[in-house]
Amino acid sequence: MSTPTIYLDNNATTPVAPEVVEAMLPFLREQFYNPSSSYPEARGPRDAIERARESVARLVGAGAKSEILFTSGATEGNNAALWGALRANPDRRHIVTTQVEHPAVLEVAKELERNGYRVTRLGVDRDGNLDKAALLRALEPETAVVSIMHGNNETGVVFPIGELSRIVKAADPRIVFHTDATQTVGKIPINLAKTLPHVDILTMSGHKLHGPKGVGAMFVRRGVRWRPWQIGGHQERGRRAGTENVAGIVGLGVACDLARTAYADEERLRQLQQWLESSILAQVPNVFINGRGAERLPNTTSFAFEYVEGEAILLAIADAGICASSGSACTSGSLDPSHVLKAMDIPFSAAHGSLRLSTSRYTTGAEIERVIDVLPGIIASLRRISPYWDQATNAPRGDIDVFVQGKYR
Ligand code: PMP
Repeated sequence: MSTPTIYLDNNATTPVAPEVVEAMLPFLREQFYNPSSSYPEARGPRDAIERARESVARLVGAGAKSEILFTSGATEGNNAALWGALRANPDRRHIVTTQVEHPAVLEVAKELERNGYRVTRLGVDRDGNLDKAALLRALEPETAVVSIMHGNNETGVVFPIGELSRIVKAADPRIVFHTDATQTVGKIPINLAKTLPHVDILTMSGHKLHGPKGVGAMFVRRGVRWRPWQIGGHQERGRRAGTENVAGIVGLGVACDLARTAYADEERLRQLQQWLESSILAQVPNVFINGRGAERLPNTTSFAFEYVEGEAILLAIADAGICASSGSACTSGSLDPSHVLKAMDIPFSAAHGSLRLSTSRYTTGAEIERVIDVLPGIIASLRRISPYWDQATNAPRGDIDVFVQGKYR
């Protein structure tokens, strides 16, 4: 009998909620009409889009539903946020972002540099925290946009976006403040009207909160200097052209409604996280948790097991039926650890042994128990064949010595 899969890679994508699938089906079947058509049949899809807009607006606490636009996901949203803000402020050619953003921001920043813009990338400390004074110092009279993610997809570190946006706006109210909230929407409460009044643009993706893939949303605060990025037809009041992904949008709306009621689960996920982390730290030597000293998402744990290969851990836990992800970029053909762990200055010997486990409201205590049962044995057996481990335990050298004493725990 094969063991059922334990899915702990929810930061990569989440299972679509059954309620979401059900709500989408009519819009793939009988309600197929183009929402822009004038006959009465098109009213169903048109109204459904507006209901979904209301659901997204409520989840993120937008002041008005007209501040929500539908996109194809956070990648499009991030491109639109940055290019749209720069086009609306052509006299300014500098942007500030961080070294730990998702490629959907970092690659845009590189492309902006190729187009003559200047980019400042803020670093983080060993726990993944940003330095607020450095943010303030990075601002220039030419700064058009500051783009700082809300929750990090690899480590789960949550930046204090309310405070950071307030600092930026106090320094220069004309700067557009964007946050990529793909990993936080639906996981922690967000209220753009009340607690995040200085965030101008927020981007998100449906498939990270049990909605479908290929659909997302973007909050653009009323009055913000921003120009549409994808142009063509008059959809989304001219702010995002293209025939709407009606079924996807409907699914995203239902996913947002479910997430609003699932906030009660935040506490349960924090307990699972605490149990998982303390059990592994107690049973496995030479492991630490990336970002442990920072505020983190309730669903994400990034372990750094020293002197083992993250890819080897992944293969071994996949054998035990557990889906997770590593913190290295080996899949992209490079031997480098991820840019996030590098920015945190995680030592090479540990960054390579990183393992990200990310839960969701469908994760059970029994599943976490299974991880706690199998992971210590997997790490021990991989270390038995690791030359680095031999070297570290038999002949401790300067830096290695420090880890053996558990300094980074
Ligand atoms: N930003 C962050 C923080 C993400 O985690 C992701 C998805 N991994 C994205 C952006 C891109 O989302 P999508 O692929 O849905 O466009």
